[in-house]
Parts: sequence; structure tokens; C-alpha cells
Amino acid sequence: MKVMKFGGTSVGTPERMKSVASLLTNSGEQVFVVLSAMSGTTNSLVEISNYLYKKNPEKANEVIDSLEKAYMQHVDNLYSTEEYRNTTRDFLREEFDYLRSFTTELFTSFEEKNIVAQGEIISTNMVVNYMKENGFDVVLLSALDFMRTDKNEEPDSTYIHDKLNVIMDKEAGHQVYVTQGFICRNAYGEIDNLRRGGSDYSASLIGAAIDAEEIQIWTDIDGMHNNDPRIVEKTEAISQLHFEEAAELAYFGAKILHPTCIQPAKHAGIPVRLKNTMQPEAPGTIINSEKVKGKIKAVAVKDNITAIKVKSSRMLLATGFLRKVFETFEGYQTAIDMVATSEVGVSMSIDNDVHLNEIVDELKKYGTVTVDTGMCIVCVVGDLDWNNVGFETMATEVMKNIPVRMISYGGSNYNISFLIRETDKKQALQSLSDTLFYK
Ligand code: ASP
Ligand code: MG
Repeated sequence: MKVMKFGGTSVGTPERMKSVASLLTNSGEQVFVVLSAMSGTTNSLVEISNYLYKKNPEKANEVIDSLEKAYMQHVDNLYSTEEYRNTTRDFLREEFDYLRSFTTELFTSFEEKNIVAQGEIISTNMVVNYMKENGFDVVLLSALDFMRTDKNEEPDSTYIHDKLNVIMDKEAGHQVYVTQGFICRNAYGEIDNLRRGGSDYSASLIGAAIDAEEIQIWTDIDGMHNNDPRIVEKTEAISQLHFEEAAELAYFGAKILHPTCIQPAKHAGIPVRLKNTMQPEAPGTIINSEKVKGKIKAVAVKDNITAIKVKSSRMLLATGFLRKVFETFEGYQTAIDMVATSEVGVSMSIDNDVHLNEIVDELKKYGTVTVDTGMCIVCVVGDLDWNNVGFETMATEVMKNIPVRMISYGGSNYNISFLIRETDKKQALQSLSDTLFYK
């Protein structure tokens, strides 16, 4: 069985919901479908929650009302029979009354999680009703019955595997199984979620649990591109990526795939295919365990980076210096992206500068601190195994006219990263692209 996940834009209008259904008819195989909320809905639900946190039920109700109006209109456009229009309207009325019920209550993160879960509950019910109206053999499975996190807020894959397989045995033989992405229960059975953008993660966890032959992530672009199409003139979809390469690119903000999604698929050895709902015949990008020797696949960039250098004086060569420096960042819940060390100092990059001032003040205990803001990390991804010769020099050669603040190579077999000024970004990306892909 294949798992097919459709993101918010792929179910973003009644028209798009219809296209999803017709994709499934055409496939003719048994499929497990994971859906996001309609695009914009989760944001609206977060907005409602924020108003309720701020004790502003009037504003929350305004958002609820306008959302309800939009959904009722979708009903008219989606269904062709009164029967299904009525069933779905009744369902939506209950849903929106449920949302309104929170506007009178004490508001905590528990209520917020209930609210944001409704986007996927609504979209799956709407699509399933549409499929039923059109004669599909479809069942709706509630993700709340099998998706679960443990006490560390990490997915509990054993639980998910066991629960889902019992459900699938009971519901054996249907053509289409539909469930919600993103939502789950926590270790205490309360409604929770896998964090924003988490439905890719749901799809991957489900694929691993049912030992799917492939996990397909359907969005509105034709795969992962070899460079950032917003910055560089010519880019194209990459046909194949190794799991590790895809993970590097996802961390570098390739919006098409949530970084957490790779791990369960990789662990279970299930290929992930990125497909475009607007162009279903395009091959997209396949992510699997195949390594292509000596091939550079892509360039990616991460903006808003701050570089911090600590030059140790007294601490020169002292043990524990790096630990103390890193602990300072940890103390402020700030993740470090890149690191470069020498015998007299260490440079690090961060993408979250909320606690920059406190961090810098504390680091001054260990040496002289310098800060550079407005930087970006340019990351070259592909077969960069150190045993191969020439690839790191090829990338470095391209950067010869650009001031490079830091280089990181050898942290993985799949990447070399450069920290440069954001103002040099366009030139760097274009030259890397020209040299690495189109020469
Ligand atoms: N609907 C959720 C979000 O917008 C989850 C997802 O679409 O992946 O974050
Ligand atoms: Mg998404």
C-alpha cells in the first residue's frame, strides 16, 4: 500500500479537493491518505487561540464566524447532492459550535491543542464525504485513535504500529483509507499535535507503521529544487536524493518537506516521493537510500544567521572550554548550526537571536566575543564523502570572490557549508549553480 499525504494547498479549495479524489480514482490501488487542514485554517485556529489567551472572546468569535462562512460556501461548491450538502453542513455546524464553546472557558494550552486539531478533522471529513458521494470505497480513520507521543513528546512508534495494524486488520479490504495529519494524543491521552507542518511527519510515521511500499508527499511544487528558485535564474527538480541529502535540504528550509519527516522513512527503508498535485504526471523527487557517487545535488540557503566568535585567552587549550561555551547557548535554548574551531577560539552560528545579548554577556567570561549579523549559510549538498577528491575544492573555488566567514566540512558525508554575508547570497548561489549544475 502507498501512503499519500496532501498538504494544505492541495486541499485548499473545493476544486483542489476534487482533484485529490480524482488522483485516487486514477491510481486504482489501495491507498492510505493523510490530509492537512485546508491552507490558512491552522493559522486561523492559532489566531482564535491567541485571542482567547488574551481574553478577547469577541475577536475570537469574529474569526470563527468568518471561517464558518467560508466553509459553508465550500460545501455548496464541493457537493452535488442535497444529501451530502446537508450532512456536511450539520457536521460543520457542530464543529463551529464546538469552537465557540471555548470562548467562555478558562484558556490553556490544553484548549489550544483541541482547537488547532479541528482543521484536519474538518478537512478529512469533507474529503471523505465527497468521496462517498462519488462512490469511493473509503473509510475515515481518526488519527486520535492511533497517533501518539510519549512522555518526551516524541512519537511512540511501537504504539502507533500496534494500534494502527489492529485497526487496519479490522478495516481490511477498502480502497481508500483517510486520516488526519498533524494531530495525535500525548502520553496522557490528551489531544496534541506534531507541531506546525507536522503532517509530513504523520505520513512518514504511518508509512513506517504499515510498512508502506512508498510515502508520497503531494504539494504544489514539482519536487525539491537544486537551488532556490526565488533567487537563482535557472533551477530544476532533483530526480533523486539520498535520505541524508534530503534531511540536510529540509533543515535548510526547503519548505516542501518537513525535516522530521525523513527519519521514520529512512529507519524503515521506505522511499519518500515528492509530487506536485498541479502536475501529477511530473516525476517529482524520489528520496531513498541510493548513493550516487560523486554527484552534487543541490544548493540551499538559510537566512538571518548570526555568527559569534569567542577567542580564548587564558583558556587556551584548556579542557572544558568548548563545553562551557556550548552550555551557554543551551542555557538559553538556542541551537547552534555551524561550528568552526581553532586552537585559540571557536566560531558558531545561530538562527535565533532572541537571547543574543545575554549569551554574549555570558560568553565574555571565556574570552573576547565578536558578533556578525546579517549573515546566511549556503549549503552544498551531495556526495561529499571525504574520500572523494575535488568536490570541496570545486565548491570553495566558486566562492573565491566572496568573503567567507566560516566553512564547515566533514560534519556529514553529504554537505559543505559556507557562512557569508546575506548581501553576497545571490552571487554565491548563482555562481554555485552555474558551476556545479550547468557547466
Ligand atoms: N495544518 C498543520 C499546519 O498548518 C499541519 C500541516 O499542514 O502540516 O501546520
Ligand atoms: Mg506542510
